[in-house]
Amino acid sequence: MTVAVYPGSFDPMTKGHLDVVIRAARLFEKLIVGVYDTPDNKRLLFTVQERTGMAAEATAGMPNVEVRSFSGLTVDFAEKVGAHVMVRGLRVSADFEWEFDMAMMNRKLNPNLEMVCLMASPEFQFLSSSLLKEVSKLGGNVDDMLPKNVAEALRRKVHKEM
Ligand code: ADP
Repeated sequence: MTVAVYPGSFDPMTKGHLDVVIRAARLFEKLIVGVYDTPDNKRLLFTVQERTGMAAEATAGMPNVEVRSFSGLTVDFAEKVGAHVMVRGLRVSADFEWEFDMAMMNRKLNPNLEMVCLMASPEFQFLSSSLLKEVSKLGGNVDDMLPKNVAEALRRKVHKEM
């Protein structure tokens, strides 16, 4: 069985992430969405429990998709769950260099883990969690760019923070 992991912060999961999940779930027998608990380089809005719960709810109808949180190295998480593939999403211009560096480093750490990048769909090219959070905090409506449960959670969170 080919198991793949799709790791990320998912703070929160957008329709762009969900699109990658749907497409990767067609390619692999099992897809594990790995929610990284505390990325060093990010200011998080949601706790890891909230991010994991939202991603699980958004992917609930997909029988071969599982959502788990993890900490530490992604290659170690992949090994623990028996994955041989790591999936990432690539948006035009924004992601390539960083993903390439990460892929090279991960290959050094575990040469058996193959990285597969899916090109972001055109309608989601310009979607990022950070931009959606910023717009939402400023009062903009971003509901149609998020899974329904996530849009509601983001509205509640932003409202509470103000
Ligand atoms: P990370 O903290 O690892 O960058 P993110 O949650 O920001 O985690 O993103 C997880 C993965 O999803 C990354 O590979 C990122 O490039 C990809 N991604 C983010 N937004 C989109 C999108 N709109 N379409 C396709 N892939 C995306």
